[in-house]
Formats: sequence, C-alpha cells, structure tokens
Amino acid sequence: MSQNFDAIVIGAGVIGISTAFHLAERGLKPVILERKEIGYGATGKSSGLVRMHYDLEVESRLAWESFQYFRNWSERVGGECGFRRTGFLHIEPADHETQLRKNVQMHQRIGIPTEVLSGNDVKKIAPYLRTDDIAFAAYEPESGYADPMLTANSLLTAAKECGAVYIQDCEITGAQISNGKVTGVQTSRGDFSAPIIINAAGAWAGKVSELFGVSIPLGTWTHDVVHIRRPAQIPDHLTVIDSSLSMYFRPDSGNLTLVALEDDSRLDEPAEKDLGYVAKDFVERAIERICARIPAMEEGSLHSSHVGRDGLTPDQRAIIGQAGPEGYFLATGFSGTGFKLSPAVGLCVSELILDGKSKTVDISGFDPMRFERGEQLKGENDYGFIWRNAST
Ligand SMILES: Cc1cc2nc3c(=O)[nH]c(=O)nc-3n(C[C@H](O)[C@H](O)[C@H](O)COP(=O)(O)OP(=O)(O)OC[C@H]3O[C@@H](n4cnc5c(N)ncnc54)[C@H](O)[C@@H]3O)c2cc1C
Repeated sequence: MSQNFDAIVIGAGVIGISTAFHLAERGLKPVILERKEIGYGATGKSSGLVRMHYDLEVESRLAWESFQYFRNWSERVGGECGFRRTGFLHIEPADHETQLRKNVQMHQRIGIPTEVLSGNDVKKIAPYLRTDDIAFAAYEPESGYADPMLTANSLLTAAKECGAVYIQDCEITGAQISNGKVTGVQTSRGDFSAPIIINAAGAWAGKVSELFGVSIPLGTWTHDVVHIRRPAQIPDHLTVIDSSLSMYFRPDSGNLTLVALEDDSRLDEPAEKDLGYVAKDFVERAIERICARIPAMEEGSLHSSHVGRDGLTPDQRAIIGQAGPEGYFLATGFSGTGFKLSPAVGLCVSELILDGKSKTVDISGFDPMRFERGEQLKGENDYGFIWRNAST
C-alpha cells in the first residue's frame, strides 16, 4: 500500500531539506526520501563559504536572500547553522578588473555590503597576506562561512516541526506517472504517492530524472579539500576566493585553515564512483599556493584532507524548475556553489510550486530545458568557468 503525502522530495541534502522546510511552512505535508543519510552527498563535504560575490546577478540575489537566513538563523529557522562572520575577499587576475568593478556595482545595487579595495587597503585589513600582486579586490565585510551539516540538520528539525516527514535508507527506484502527471515513486521501502515530486538528488539527479523521462545534461565535479594547522602568528584570517591563484581558503575551528583549488577538480567522474582519496600531489599544490598568499603558513602543518562530489552542469549553474510530467520539479546541478544559496533556493522552489512563479527571486533563468534550446547562463560581467580540470 502506498503512503500519501502532498509532496515527495528526493534527497536529504541541503537543497532538498530547505525545499521541504519551505513547503511545510506553507502548510504542505512533504516527505523527504533519502537513499543513505542526511548529508551523504555534497552537503556533508561542503566547504561552507557564505559570500555574495558572483558574476551572475540572479546568483548574487539568491545568495543575498539566503544571507538573511544565515545571519539570523535561530530566529528564522531555529537551531544553529554555525555562521561565522570573517569578512570575505574576492581576488581576480589583473585582466578582470573591469568585470570585478562592474560586478561590485551590481552587488551594491542589490544592497549587498561590498566595496573594491586597493592592494594597500587589503594589506591594512589583512597584513598576513602577500599583496604585491594585488591591485584591486572585492571585499564583503559581513560574509564568512557556515557549517553545512548544522545547517542541514537544523533545517530538517524545523521542517519536521512544521509537519514534514524524513525517511532515510530509502532509494527511489521508479516513477509513477499517470495521464502526464506524476503520482508517486517506487522505492526500496515501498511506494509513496504525491502530486508533486522534487528531484534534489545532487550528483545522482541525472539518473533519478531518467525515471521521470526527463534527460538533463548533468555531469559531476569531484573536489579535493585540505585542512592545515595554522602557525601561532596567524590566529585567524579572512575567507578568501583567490582566483588569481585559482584557490579558495577560509579559517576553520581548532586553528585550522581549509584550502581548495579551482583548477584541480575532476570533472565527470561517474556519480557512483567511490570518492577515494584526494588526487596525487593535490596536497602539495594546495600548500604551495596557500604559502604563496600567506607566507607565514610555511610554519603550518598538514592536518587532513577529504573529497566531495556535486552535480555539474554545462554552464556550471544550477538546474531549477518544472520539466516533463506535470508536478515534476528539479532543484539540482549546483556545480560546487549551492550551499550558500540553499535557503533562498528552497523558498523560491516552494513559491514556484505553490504560486506558479517564484517571487522572492526570479529563478526562471535556471530552466532545466535551456540546454536543449542551446542556451547557457553566463555572468553579465563574466569571469569564465570557476572549475577546471587540472589539465585545462
Ligand atoms: C567539497 C565541496 C566543497 C563545497 N564548497 C562549497 C562552498 O564553500 N560554498 C557553497 O555554497 N557550496 C559549496 N559546495 C557545493 C554545495 O555543497 C552543494 O551545491 C550542495 O550541498 C548541494 O546540495 P544538494 O542537496 O543539491 O545535493 P546533495 O547534498 O548531494 O544531496 C543529494 C542527496 O540525494 C540523495 N540521493 C541520490 N540518489 C537518490 C535516490 N535514488 N533516492 C533517494 N535519495 C537519493 C543522496 O544520497 C544525497 O544525500 C561544495 C561542495 C563540495 C562537494
């Protein structure tokens, strides 16, 4: 016998849980069906950077709406998300100065607190950084990072308090469609019925989508991360995306610094492939680059490393919207940057489902069918792809 719900959310990552939370807040009874456990996918491995600097306006708008949750989490959601304001610096190579200045103007129009700093200004707020190669950088004093597992767990608690149900060890294996409308799913734990189904299955969303007869061009992004113990002379530091060195880093608890690289990802490994270990020489490359930006890190020591995987689309931007049978929605393909967007994405998807259109931010540009039409999303003042293979 089938269990009946108002909506079925596939996947207990931060996107699926946020969507379920917002649907439940509006009075629906959704069920979240998770193949493994909460945070098993990208969410549990995420670096958790929370910043608004994007070259595509709709992403900055989603990040800014989400930021209203992160900085006010206990009132808006309840529990904690581990947000820590560190200040955020975005460094671009010298030939991107015009783009960066225009992007900062766009962010300021949205209302985001941000400005362009000179290399000297950067040195004043972060004397531990090597700045002789920095002529300009974008600065967001309010930004920082949050804890993705605390975020996902507190969203889940809040969703359950509003009536959502969570079932783990429950793999979706089939779709039920009647007269062009979704009616439910088959799973490893029996059948579930609902007139609305949201595919938020992360790197596995392409395979899940095939069950509904909807093909999406979803590859994967496999990303290595290293933690370094900081020397005593660097008690803390900013959160930084340093695209001139193709790297990002942020402080972490326990005097650690998290470092990862933009040009060292493994693109399009099978979603099912074991995550294994970080790539050969990754740790050496990451340490070399962090020492190039923070010379005192030479005195640091290696702590640990890990690997995570997210879904990657051809334009490295999310897939969000209705496609295929009536009642079927996708919220996936976040291409390594979905954590900081997740509160607003869940809100906008709930608006799309319940009001026919998202009002908080217009997410129509993330239309799943754009690739079929030969369209790709591109920043208004484009920096190019963030993620590159080691060889490209
Ligand atoms: C190493 C790393 C660092 C990152 N750093 C940042 C960052 O600093 N800032 C930022 O904003 N973003 C970052 N991201 C990206 C961000 O974490 C992801 O975009 C986001 O977590 C995606 O969430 P999700 O819910 O879409 O997917 P996931 O968290 O992957 O969740 C999908 C879930 O679906 C489940 N599932 C799959 N198939 C099925 C099925 N058939 N039946 C039932 N369940 C199924 C999976 O088990 C999984 O739990 C990073 C990602 C990684 C991997």
